[in-house]
Amino acid sequence: MTIRLYDTKLRRKVDFTPLVEGKVSMYVCGPTVYNRIHIGNARTFISFDMIRRYLQWRGFDVTFVQNVTDVDDKIIKRANEEGRTAAEVAAEYTEAFIGDMHAAGVQDPDVRPKATEEIPAMIELVQRLIDGGHAYEVDGDVYFAVRSYPAYGGLSGRNIDEMEGGHRELRADGQGLEDRKRDPLDFALWKAAKPGEPSWESPWGSGRPGWHIECSAMSHKYLGLPFDIHGGGSDLAFPHHENERAQSEAAWGCTFANHWMHSGMLQINAEKMSKSLGNFMLLYEVLETTRPAALRMLMLQTHYRSPLDFSEDRLAEADAALTRIENAVRNLDWLASNAVDGAPDVVDAAALGAQVAAAREAFAQAMDDDFNAPAALGAIFTLVGEVNAAVADKSLSVADAEVVTTARDGIVELLAVLGIQLEDDQDEGAAYPPEVIALAADLAGYGGADAMEAVEALLEARALARKEKNWAVADGVRDGLAALGFTIEDTPQGARVSYGA
Ligand SMILES: [Zn+2]
Repeated sequence: MTIRLYDTKLRRKVDFTPLVEGKVSMYVCGPTVYNRIHIGNARTFISFDMIRRYLQWRGFDVTFVQNVTDVDDKIIKRANEEGRTAAEVAAEYTEAFIGDMHAAGVQDPDVRPKATEEIPAMIELVQRLIDGGHAYEVDGDVYFAVRSYPAYGGLSGRNIDEMEGGHRELRADGQGLEDRKRDPLDFALWKAAKPGEPSWESPWGSGRPGWHIECSAMSHKYLGLPFDIHGGGSDLAFPHHENERAQSEAAWGCTFANHWMHSGMLQINAEKMSKSLGNFMLLYEVLETTRPAALRMLMLQTHYRSPLDFSEDRLAEADAALTRIENAVRNLDWLASNAVDGAPDVVDAAALGAQVAAAREAFAQAMDDDFNAPAALGAIFTLVGEVNAAVADKSLSVADAEVVTTARDGIVELLAVLGIQLEDDQDEGAAYPPEVIALAADLAGYGGADAMEAVEALLEARALARKEKNWAVADGVRDGLAALGFTIEDTPQGARVSYGA
């Protein structure tokens, strides 16, 4: 089966054929490091992490490059406000960004170039554009001559002649002194140094690169041209990506990115997220009260290209859905590890095996169709329901346990392909109240300091007491655990305990 993806430039889904068989080269624009990232940015990075993980699962060797824009007007402004250097501000928020990405379960890129460390490649590219007649220098500034690249506007679906009326948009973005440009559409490749700003020596005097040229230089250097997929949030399609493409194709005379992919915007309670509306949410603040897997579940329940509506209610629903899967997996683990020797086989192995195979097929079909994660999650939920039904009210034989474990592993694997990591039992034990250790010392002679072990010791002591009809001890264990928030359920396979919920 072929993966199909929606290509922004072609405005339709196309078959994805990598340039080099078995390999995928991807470039996704990274953050400008002047602040902690908000959850709208996080959606972009989580979307492309999902896409990357799926390509890897499908067997592609993916090279993923993501830059850090660590010199920029916003960084300089913040540094001036705080009496620090731009480099200090950039270093602080680069580190914070990497920490936020790790906290959100986003894989590190293979290469994470920083703009300030790639200045020679940018100067070389600007010079190449000047030499080719695509750029010109005015008093230390260098501008790209937009009309020298006839395909300009083709990525974002704009007509260059209709942009004349819209050039205010370009004028307002602080790209430089408007009266220096030959054409209002032209944009800065290199900006002459102003006092107090970070600057580098260049053939045009000291200055710093424009934003767009950074990505053109870094993607060329680390991936070569053309590369397979260029990604980013849909707000970057114009002018940033349009400009990256114009510069790169004008300079090198070949295709820049073979495919363009853009993730949709995020809204809060159906409103655009903005500082003025007071609904601006930073990723790290959301993760203070939300499990990363629940945030990802919420995000992947909407197709990556569609607008995503973020709300506390939807987050709670996503968390509940995640908890249902976790409980199902724990239940399967418990049933399998408490399988009864010599018991009759009660699970229809052929039927369950077919359901697992069908779920994997449905998952791959959904993801092959432009990374339809909501449909892929649907396939996983269906399988969870089927496995739950197959084992309900049953004591498993050893053979059953094997079949059930295969199904359980399938659920965990497919979720991990989407980047949703289930909490393991270790985490469950970590949530137990520490008082259970003292209770186990009292009633079960437990001498350790591990809450999970303490609960196991208490259950063993209770089982022994019940066998000996020592009801005082058996009831004492049950009541002591209940007082700490545990529930004991007696099943044909022995007692099992749950905490909370
Ligand atoms: Zn970029």
